[in-house]
Amino acid sequence: MPEGDTVWNTALMLQSALAGAVIRHSDFRVPSLATADLSRWRVRGCASRGKHLLLRLTGPGDGRAMTLHSHLRMDGSWRIYSPGEAWRGRPAHLIRVVLRTLTTVAVGYHLHDLALVPTDEEETLVGHLGPDLLGPADQPGGWDAAEAVRRLRAQPDSTIAEALLDQRNLAGIGNLYKAEVLFLRGIQPWTPVGKVDDLDSVVDLAHRLLVANRGRWTQATTGSLRRGEEVYVYGRAGSPCRRCGTLVKRETQGDRITFWCPQCQPEST
Ligand SMILES: [Zn+2]
Repeated sequence: MPEGDTVWNTALMLQSALAGAVIRHSDFRVPSLATADLSRWRVRGCASRGKHLLLRLTGPGDGRAMTLHSHLRMDGSWRIYSPGEAWRGRPAHLIRVVLRTLTTVAVGYHLHDLALVPTDEEETLVGHLGPDLLGPADQPGGWDAAEAVRRLRAQPDSTIAEALLDQRNLAGIGNLYKAEVLFLRGIQPWTPVGKVDDLDSVVDLAHRLLVANRGRWTQATTGSLRRGEEVYVYGRAGSPCRRCGTLVKRETQGDRITFWCPQCQPEST
């Protein structure tokens, strides 16, 4: 599940593979960019902002700065191949864009919200986001715990689970970290934000979990990277809670699935 850490890793991968290189051929397979041509454009770098990817480019000749924006949502991914290497892993019909340089082929599968905008207009795509859990604190939209808490507090009637997923409050948390943070803090997912005593510690934990997981592709909140031991409640409905043995529950909440332990995360009174 692509959450902020996965997107951050993807940005680093694209940065390592493409930064400084000139695109020799581009192939967009989405109607809105069918005529876009990035050949001879140079890749300046790639950054993430919450769950959004920003591939920054400089145009040939005029040095125009443009940004190729993409969002992975539930199932998107970028893969890097060598020229001539077989493109394994994902079906070809999911390909949305192919960028070729002299040494690298970058293929974007099932990307969402693919858009090409002037770099100085990036904010029109990501300006609505709350502080980015993995964003440098000294950059626009970067991590600012106090601001994240302030935004959460402004919605006292929202459930804490939905408020944590709302990228306008803080950017980068997906369904897995939402479930795990609430378990670790003993908070029932339907608790109104206004009834959560220590929002600072919820936000602080979310930040620490994402930071701990960036740089690797396995998402773990338990301290164990062993298969089947990585998480406390996410995806574990019907299995015993690792702390108390009570069966983990799952239920639809809004348009997402929530997992929690009814014993460790009692309803607030
Ligand atoms: Zn439990």
